[in-house]
Amino acid sequence: NLSDKLDKAFHILKGHGKITEVNVAETLKEVRRALLDADVNFKIAKDFTTRVKEKAIGQDVLTTLQPGQLLVKLVKDELTELMGGDVAGINLSGNPTVILMSGLQGSGKTTFSGKLANYLLTKKNKKPLLVACDIYRPAAIQQLYVVGDSIGVEVYSEPENKNPVEIAQNAIKHAKANGFNVVIVDTAGRLAVDAAMMDEIARVHKAIQPQETLFVVDSMTGQDAVNTAKAFNDILNFDGVILTKLDGDTRGGAALSIKTVVNKPIKFVGTGEKMDAIDVFYPVRMAERILGMGDVVSLVERAQEQFDEEEARKIQKKIAKNEFGFDDFLSQIQQVKKMGNMKDLVGMIPGASKAMKDVEIEDDAFKHIEAIIHSMTPIERSKPALIDVKRKARIAKGSGTKIEQVNQLMKQFEQMSKMMKMMQGPGGKNLMKMMGG
Ligand code: GDP
Ligand code: MG
Repeated sequence: NLSDKLDKAFHILKGHGKITEVNVAETLKEVRRALLDADVNFKIAKDFTTRVKEKAIGQDVLTTLQPGQLLVKLVKDELTELMGGDVAGINLSGNPTVILMSGLQGSGKTTFSGKLANYLLTKKNKKPLLVACDIYRPAAIQQLYVVGDSIGVEVYSEPENKNPVEIAQNAIKHAKANGFNVVIVDTAGRLAVDAAMMDEIARVHKAIQPQETLFVVDSMTGQDAVNTAKAFNDILNFDGVILTKLDGDTRGGAALSIKTVVNKPIKFVGTGEKMDAIDVFYPVRMAERILGMGDVVSLVERAQEQFDEEEARKIQKKIAKNEFGFDDFLSQIQQVKKMGNMKDLVGMIPGASKAMKDVEIEDDAFKHIEAIIHSMTPIERSKPALIDVKRKARIAKGSGTKIEQVNQLMKQFEQMSKMMKMMQGPGGKNLMKMMGG
């Protein structure tokens, strides 16, 4: 995938002390190839690498960073720009706000209509109404009812009416009369762009004058997604793009080109079949996803800001001398806590965000840990090996925790010590350096 290819591209830089014209050119050639393979249009890919190259050459200011890292950052920034730079909000003006969904069949319109309704209901305090304008398949209306039921949002439909323009207009009247302030119109799609579908959605669009016309597209469809987007945009001049099925193994080639080709922002992404699998689209996060690196750069930046260098050096020495104990563990935890919310942090570690997606991390997850360590005697803290079953029972009692929790902490501590020892090895030097040591 694109990420692996970019990895390979950046690999070229390894072992070079400085970014030179030659190794940048080599790397960017690989980057361009990777973009092309991910269905990014040739001209976009070419312009992209030209811009990165211009920025990379002669950036002496940043020689303190690893040159590879610098280039990754330049590529990331440029990718972010390519996808629109800033977050594009949703226009909720109008009473009611009318939102029209467009897109091919199977792109995820009905599912996303539900997700958006749920988002507006729970996050924006709105009272949304879902409207079934897919008049071709009775099952489609049924599907919207299932969706509406699951989130507690009313669905408007006229099963006997075969005129989607009328249904949409009646729905808006119904909304006005019943205090709904957002109307989400789900429409029918076809398997491919055709004149009849375009004509129908254009008529609905003209009749209801939506505040937001959203084009929904399956992110797995690559370059086709871009062509479809162009066809819909020519007819509807839509306001934003919804990229669905980003939970699949797609690396977002479509996201890269769509903004450039239709010049419309991606507003939301769908990341699963469930109603809460909706995210506001952050260009910078998508760039990171494409680079497969989590938010490493800002993690490093934050770590540099927050980690006390002196402390880090002391800890490093202790690890080297095998003297790392629970007091140090505690001070590490305090350092980590200073860095902010745990969830944010986990999200920044590559790979971890996916693995931890379903795990609730409480900000006070450390409370027990701190209590347990505080119940240890100084000797126990500096020589954890002393802590036997009897001592564990005492510590559990003293800290108001269970012996299993003490055991768990002991295990975590062991793992952490082991990891820290590993970081002392050849590969770990950089990591410690990054942490301010
Ligand atoms: P529509 O024909 O455009 O209305 O598409 P649907 O909303 O019926 O979705 C088509 C299929 O894609 C359904 O099986 C959905 O469950 C699935 N789907 C929609 N959005 C997502 C998503 O973000 N992730 C995944 N994995 N599946 C999705
Ligand atoms: Mg549908």
